[in-house]
Amino acid sequence: MIFKTISKKDFNKFLEILIENNNFFAPQKIAKDKNKKPIYDLREIKNIGDIDFNYDIIKYPPRRFFLPYREVISSFKIENNTWEQNIGYETKVPRVLLGLHPCDINSLNKLDKVLLLGDYPSPYYAIRRKNTFIIGMDCEPKPFCFCRSVGTHTVQHGCDLFLIEIGDSYFMEIFSNIAFDFLKKVKTKDTTKADDDEYKRIRKLKTEKFSAKVDVTDLTKILDMEFQSDVWKEWGDRCLGCGSCARVCPTCYCYGIEEKIDLKFQNAGKLKILHACTLVDFAEVAGGFNFRPEKHIRLKYRYYHKHRGFVEAYEESLCVGCGRCGQACLAGITVPEVISSIRE
Ligand code: SF4
Ligand code: SF4
Repeated sequence: MIFKTISKKDFNKFLEILIENNNFFAPQKIAKDKNKKPIYDLREIKNIGDIDFNYDIIKYPPRRFFLPYREVISSFKIENNTWEQNIGYETKVPRVLLGLHPCDINSLNKLDKVLLLGDYPSPYYAIRRKNTFIIGMDCEPKPFCFCRSVGTHTVQHGCDLFLIEIGDSYFMEIFSNIAFDFLKKVKTKDTTKADDDEYKRIRKLKTEKFSAKVDVTDLTKILDMEFQSDVWKEWGDRCLGCGSCARVCPTCYCYGIEEKIDLKFQNAGKLKILHACTLVDFAEVAGGFNFRPEKHIRLKYRYYHKHRGFVEAYEESLCVGCGRCGQACLAGITVPEVISSIRE
């Protein structure tokens, strides 16, 4: 790992170079919530002055840049008893994402395990991942963040550059050759003992600030023991089956395929649409049979995929502890409360 520092002034120069040559997305204030608190999201930026460095969390996870909610995976043109297939990946202009927090970078690492390194890698995902330069930034834990409990509050890989604010400068962790080469265009400094000490002080302070916790000790075994527990029924009675939790989750990747053809039988398309395991038709199969018609069963399987099945397959949970699902849930269902009720 290479560490450097950069003054905020020089970092802005670096961003100007990136904005000029790439599709550049960074945090911006997009609205206010019901308590008049600002909501931030990653938006395309053309001027450095439009970046809001005071953002707290990015409302919608970066998953959408790699795994869009809806995409045409192939289209067909049918003519004279023959047909032509067109498969297009988005590779045109390189893209930069600025401001991803550790949980979101780790969410991409988890998606990589399935969509890059799994048995059936997705070329659509792979090309976007390769084409995107990621600059992560450190964050202040919010009352609903429990990333520390699942070990995703720090970054070991998955981005090109990671920044921690130290006064008028940033402490930079350089993860990729591309970042190292890009940074030659601006002035950076080797870190000093004082920078290292400040880094350690800030990291320690952050660790102490987490208030939400999830006890994951032996969780896979406890979930096996509690598979028939009435607790699932209680949570299922509260669940509205709305799918908001999956919509905001940075690691959900379940999808459905739709095939469409126009009325003249000349054009057809195969559409991939992200699904949500709590929606009523998630487990509906051909013929209309639904093998998970009950809400509590669907909600239960959501938890078993995140905290049981994925752990068995990859030795880590599919939850990064961002807390977005609990924030989005109109029924007030949160991961820390569900897991704690299962353990009791
Ligand atoms: S806290 Fe919720 S939204 Fe965040 S990763 Fe875990 S399940 Fe997904
Ligand atoms: S957001 Fe809440 S109510 Fe909606 S499906 Fe998820 S757990 Fe159920």
